[in-house]
Amino acid sequence: TCALPISHIILTVAFVFLYVLVSIPDFVAMKTFLLAVATAVAVAQAAQLRGISSSGCSYSSDFDYIMLTEQWPQTECDDTFHCSVKPPNFFTIHGAWPNNFDGSYPCNCDSSDEFDPSKVSSLHSELVEYWPSLQCISDPDSCLDSFLSHEWSKHGTCAREISAMSTQLGYFSTALALREKYEILPALAKQGIYPSSSKWYSKSSVSTAFKSEHGTYPALQCDSSGYISIMAVCFAKNLTAIDCPSDNSNCNSDSVLLPDRKSVV
Ligand code: AMP
Repeated sequence: TCALPISHIILTVAFVFLYVLVSIPDFVAMKTFLLAVATAVAVAQAAQLRGISSSGCSYSSDFDYIMLTEQWPQTECDDTFHCSVKPPNFFTIHGAWPNNFDGSYPCNCDSSDEFDPSKVSSLHSELVEYWPSLQCISDPDSCLDSFLSHEWSKHGTCAREISAMSTQLGYFSTALALREKYEILPALAKQGIYPSSSKWYSKSSVSTAFKSEHGTYPALQCDSSGYISIMAVCFAKNLTAIDCPSDNSNCNSDSVLLPDRKSVV
């Protein structure tokens, strides 16, 4: 689970309520307070029924689909991370995330199953290339391990319902295979969309280019300058590609840029 159980919250609220009840002499104030407590309890119970915590992360490991989220290193290395590696000129994986259509998602579903790099050692060179840590100022291998460990613990442990993703090796190898099968950059290139430091495209032309090649709409995310930072491909639980739910991507619909390779990092 990923947050305080709702039952604890309800108990705490009940104690606070009792405490305040004995200390409020004013009847109107007491009625208002009672109403506020009743509302809080109702909201908490509704959230519990839906299995959602305040952080958006749900208690239940149930989910609707997998979102394979890929980063555009040229954007991320400028904005979000101070990358110490030369940013690759292709989309790299951030994570394969079990998600729900209502925007919630499960996380940290099994703390007993810690990430073990030896279980994915056969994938090491592919992970270094396509799932790199872009945030590394120390030893690259330990940066990679801690990034993968975060992704496995937070998201991977919740994807077990998909048999191909039910082990650490399965989770990482399946995500790598999906990335390769639904490669983004070649799909865009086939429709004349290339990384460029000056050529802006409409958001829909980028989405449609991906769909023309792979049959489904991706999700896009941009930074505040309109640079594409993330593109994601979505999959049903049987791992067939599906349209990603419409995103609140903060991309300007008229102009997005896929910035070209930086010469200096
Ligand atoms: P998540 O919790 O899966 O959304 O991942 C977010 C965390 O992953 C944040 O702490 C980010 O700083 C970190 N992160 C995202 N992408 C990378 C990357 N390519 N390399 C290292 N850390 C990353």
